[in-house]
Amino acid sequence: MIGLMSASAAGAVARDRLAAAWPDRTRVYDGPVGDAVRAAFAECEQMVCFLATGAVVRLIAPLLGDKASDPGVVCVDESGRFAVSLVGGHAGGANELAHAVGEVLGAHPVVTTATDSTNLPGLDTLGFPAEGDIASVSRALLDGERVVLRTKVRWPLPPLPLSADGAYTIRVTDRAVPPGEREVLLRPPTLVVGVGASKGVSVAEVLALVDGALRDAGLCVGSVAELATVDAKADEPGLVAAAERLGVPLVTYPAGELATVDVPNPSAAPLAAVGTPSVAEAAALVRGGELLVPKRKSAMATCAVVRRPGRGRLALVGLGPGARDLLTPRAKAELRRASVLVGLDQYVDQIRDLLRPGTRVVESGLGAEEERARTAVAEARAGHAVALIGSGDAGVYAMASPALAEAADDIDVVGVPGVTAALAAAALLGAPLGHDHVSISLSDLHTPWEVIERRVRAAAEADLVVTFYNPRSRGRAWQLPMALAILAGHRAPTTPVGVVRNASRPDESSRLTTLAALDPTTVDMMTVVTVGNTATREIAGRMVTPRGYRWQEADK
Ligand code: SAH
Repeated sequence: MIGLMSASAAGAVARDRLAAAWPDRTRVYDGPVGDAVRAAFAECEQMVCFLATGAVVRLIAPLLGDKASDPGVVCVDESGRFAVSLVGGHAGGANELAHAVGEVLGAHPVVTTATDSTNLPGLDTLGFPAEGDIASVSRALLDGERVVLRTKVRWPLPPLPLSADGAYTIRVTDRAVPPGEREVLLRPPTLVVGVGASKGVSVAEVLALVDGALRDAGLCVGSVAELATVDAKADEPGLVAAAERLGVPLVTYPAGELATVDVPNPSAAPLAAVGTPSVAEAAALVRGGELLVPKRKSAMATCAVVRRPGRGRLALVGLGPGARDLLTPRAKAELRRASVLVGLDQYVDQIRDLLRPGTRVVESGLGAEEERARTAVAEARAGHAVALIGSGDAGVYAMASPALAEAADDIDVVGVPGVTAALAAAALLGAPLGHDHVSISLSDLHTPWEVIERRVRAAAEADLVVTFYNPRSRGRAWQLPMALAILAGHRAPTTPVGVVRNASRPDESSRLTTLAALDPTTVDMMTVVTVGNTATREIAGRMVTPRGYRWQEADK
């Protein structure tokens, strides 16, 4: 819950706007502002105070305890110009909250935490539990001191400026070891704990069994990624509560699938009860990995622990047509999440300023598509966080399909959609895609011309609006006139045609012409050409394809 309070009428207006925007996440604290702040500090995970920073500092100073548990506090000035992350920037989420509040109120977020303002990820915000000397290792990274990464599992970390040796260490480990001096331990989610239980098992019994298994094997509970069991136990209260206490999901598998897993300690009891000779070991091993703790039993529960192999991460990121404000926030986040960036040099240039220090960039020139796809997948396989970028959408005539054709199920894949050229062009032209439409690439580099021609013919016969990608290059001049002639066989010479070059880039241009009047020599590889269907009209200089609703017919 986010507590909101204000001391003046102006502050109350902004406060109420936020409360109206986030009705389920916020609670307004009325009354004297000192009492309101104290109550919210005790009851809420976060607070937004529509008060001067000075007032808030004085009010919360006596309440501050530990940055791991204190609420994140954001201050907004009475006129709503600034959202200041005051305390709990990382762990309390105040930095993120300042940005979110800024979005709602049109306020400028003010974030002073060093790692955020210098483009470094905070060591406590990497998505892994972190312990040890976070403050001094973060400071060392900021000051450009030499920091070493020690890791046996290759887990996909975000980029960090690291050295081969140095006095400071970041260690990635699931072992229950204490951090050394000038060391931060990151706990990767490597451990899967398989659990079985008789009906009515208590949460205390399950937790004691799991704790004992981890302790005896020298493993850290912070690295437990999930509890796993058989479908039939999905609602067993003791297991559900144990997963909740550990803060991990309870993942379940069908008995039939578990029965196929080769385990060291099968037994007859679960076979009779739920239809698989092993629950704990099989559920822990079913997605692969190394069995670290074989089955152990207590009176009513069983457990086994597996270390799963590190999984790299491949993000397929569409950058949009060019303009920075058409790059989605999610794409931006993925670019900053990646430690390896793979892409065409001109696209890398488009976003280089967004990359975090330490990002390894693998650029290549035009034509090296297969090599790029292979490199991206190989880097992800090696356990890195990789972003493979493309203009527009990365899946539209771009790198996503060659990359996924190379990839096996041993990496995680995340797709981030981007604004493809057809949509960027349509927005400039008017509403040409208001009814059924297709995109056709006229590049015969990878597709024989006969196939392209057959598709153009089909689109012509089906009266689809057509957007041509890769319409014309220096060595490829006759394809566009040929394709337009095929469409002209089914559409009037006056059919509107939009020609958009470099949509959303500095030298953007957009023209509306007709099938008969289009001069193909004005078209190049930076252009898309959108041809209307038989209903498309030019209205007030804009290209409009009607949706064909009956109420529009009736208006005529
Ligand atoms: N993945 C890209 C398309 C790659 S194919 C996307 O989703 O947009 C390359 C073709 O896309 C170019 O030849 C051109 O026809 C078109 N294109 C890409 N960006 C464009 C832009 N900003 N303006 C106009 N056409 C563009």
